[in-house]
Amino acid sequence: MGFRDRTVVVTGATSGIGFAVARLMAGEGARVAICSRSGDKVEAASKALRDEFPAAAIHAQPCDVLDPQAVTDFADASAAALGPAAVLVNNAGQGRLSTFDSTTDEAWHDELRLKIFGVTYPVRAFLPQLESQQDAAIVNVNSALALQPEPHMVATSAARAALLNLSKSLANEFADRDIRVNSILIGTVESGQWQRRFEAREDRSQDYAAWVAEEARKRHIPRGRFGKAVEAAHAITFLASPNAGFITGAALDVGGGVRRGL
Ligand code: NDP
Repeated sequence: MGFRDRTVVVTGATSGIGFAVARLMAGEGARVAICSRSGDKVEAASKALRDEFPAAAIHAQPCDVLDPQAVTDFADASAAALGPAAVLVNNAGQGRLSTFDSTTDEAWHDELRLKIFGVTYPVRAFLPQLESQQDAAIVNVNSALALQPEPHMVATSAARAALLNLSKSLANEFADRDIRVNSILIGTVESGQWQRRFEAREDRSQDYAAWVAEEARKRHIPRGRFGKAVEAAHAITFLASPNAGFITGAALDVGGGVRRGL
């Protein structure tokens, strides 16, 4: 797919969608830099990638995308280890379950900070590297909530809409620097987040498969199931690849048909 020997950076790549992207990229021969906050998770993900792809060049480093100095350090160390980034996948994050009534001011601040600065800091830190490459790409992992808010995720929905808007501005501003910026809009994809929600469930009678099937039914997902992390990862790798060379400022829906709008 045109990633061989190019450096691909994936934030939040120790689990779920981010890890699936790192696996696909390593399989394509990319040099892959990954981060997340937990040192243990970073070590485990990096070991899993090295075990599966012994020839792959992997750089793994604990980094909180909300800490600008840590993000700068990650960008510098990744470039030193692998060469300048040609692709940045902004994936780190999670959703927040809250209605308008139950969202405190502090929660609003946290949510907007995660969705905006969790992308802004990595873009700023990696921009000089991306600018040095031909057909560089940024992919922002976003949510169907950006266009279709849900009453149980009010703050996340608003923050996701803001990130979608920011992504379009970045696409406009970076177009003549040969950097494309696109988004994917995830519906519901099995990942670490959903594993944690399963473990915290009240009704303990269901196993994971039955619980996920029930959640998919409740959400009226036309495809009748949750997505797999690798299905989201394929959409991300496409948008990051030279095959998508004329696509910028776009948002690709990976929701199994759940979004009702055109
Ligand atoms: P996972 O929980 O499986 O993965 C999230 C990853 O992000 C982990 O590696 C986590 O590691 C890392 N992470 C979280 N916060 C930070 C941070 N501040 N700095 C660095 N790394 C961080 O979840 P998903 O794969 O589901 O999530 C990936 C993205 O997709 C998220 O942005 C999520 O909001 C989005 N999304 C997912 C949906 C779904 O249904 N799965 C739906 C809509 C959007 P660590 O804890 O070590 O930091």
